[in-house]
Amino acid sequence: MKNTVRVECPECGYIMPFWYTDQAECKGVMLRCKGRNCHAVFELKIEKGKQIK
Ligand SMILES: [Zn+2]
Repeated sequence: MKNTVRVECPECGYIMPFWYTDQAECKGVMLRCKGRNCHAVFELKIEKGKQIK
């Protein structure tokens, strides 16, 4: 896929199986990290196609 970036866990840096484009805008979406030993629940915030950590 072109111009897509994967979501990263702000706690541990685990690369999540979710993608967004450089057009993405997102807030209020809660994700649970699937990283080993992490399991953090974090809000996915994306502004102008960049994830805010
Ligand atoms: Zn994590």
